Amino acid sequence: MDNFYGPGRNHLFVPGPVNIPEHVIRAMNRNNEDYRSPAIPALTKTLLEDIKQIFKTTTGTPFLIPTTGTGAWESALTNTLSPGDQIVSFLIGQFSLLWIDQQRRLNFNVDVIESEWGQGANLEVLASKLAADTVHTVKAICIVHNETATGVTNNLAAVRKILDHYRHPALILVDGVSSIYVALTGSQKALSLPTGIGIAYKLETYWPYTPSIHLLYGLRASLDLIFEEGLDNVIARHSRLAKATRLAVEAWGLKNCAQKEEWYSNSVTAVLVPPNLDSSEIVSRAWKRYNLSLGLGLNKVAGKKILFMFEESLILFALQNMGLLIGDGMDVENPILFTVFGCGGN
Ligand code: PLP
Repeated sequence: MDNFYGPGRNHLFVPGPVNIPEHVIRAMNRNNEDYRSPAIPALTKTLLEDIKQIFKTTTGTPFLIPTTGTGAWESALTNTLSPGDQIVSFLIGQFSLLWIDQQRRLNFNVDVIESEWGQGANLEVLASKLAADTVHTVKAICIVHNETATGVTNNLAAVRKILDHYRHPALILVDGVSSIYVALTGSQKALSLPTGIGIAYKLETYWPYTPSIHLLYGLRASLDLIFEEGLDNVIARHSRLAKATRLAVEAWGLKNCAQKEEWYSNSVTAVLVPPNLDSSEIVSRAWKRYNLSLGLGLNKVAGKKILFMFEESLILFALQNMGLLIGDGMDVENPILFTVFGCGGN
């Protein structure tokens, strides 16, 4: 029975998919519907309008694509570039690595700027490449905003500044799957939905293919929750909770995988596990004993860290249990006690 969930609620702290708020779950609990009925274009219209606020744009055109983040990557690349185009891509962790792999398979000419995992994009190298590219061979810069695998956030404004400084016309394609700021994202992280919608920037309100109606209703409910709280308040809350998490990690004498403060993520904290501990053991114990799902390090950082997605309040519960799991003596035998702080939000 080891591979089945035990009774009770599973406490989901992997860095995505994240917990879905009850309000959003209830909004999706409905029969299938005819997506050519007048109701669906009306719903889609509100979504396309309101999603702009999440991307903080009034002029951008959002696309809702029935896919995952990986499909949104491909869609962004193939709709803005042509095979053989020269692009510059930053490699800072597993998700930037996977995106670069996709870029190569789609036959782009990829110039990779690599950093040690735990560090952010090397912008000095970008500046020197753009300075040398006076004939504008480089057509796009691809950057993962928030590298989920290492909890590192890149400075997008600095990338824009470098391009402006050299008056370089290259496009900036941003993966915002685990942060959502500028260009493309998936539904299963910051929007607290099931996996299955890729969101990028024109789509008519009539669908050219069968959309997932349930996800559209879920997205409506998720946006309503965000707007009710206020987007800036949501961002401030994550920033506050992220800081609390980092302080707790520090107090346990453990290290953040992100090596400098300027790269700290407010959505994912990746914790380096001491060499005498095996992170997969911690993750396995959390799952079996507490019905608590934590993320494992991937690829180069496998075995070295556990990850958790930042979630309203329940994070406190995760922190307490992590304290117990890594043996700092916190005596938390009844994890359910900590759920009284409320449940995860967007
Ligand atoms: N980009 C980042 C930063 C991610 O964290 C992920 C998934 O975790 C992806 C892309 C891939 O998204 P998906 O798994 O929805 O295809």
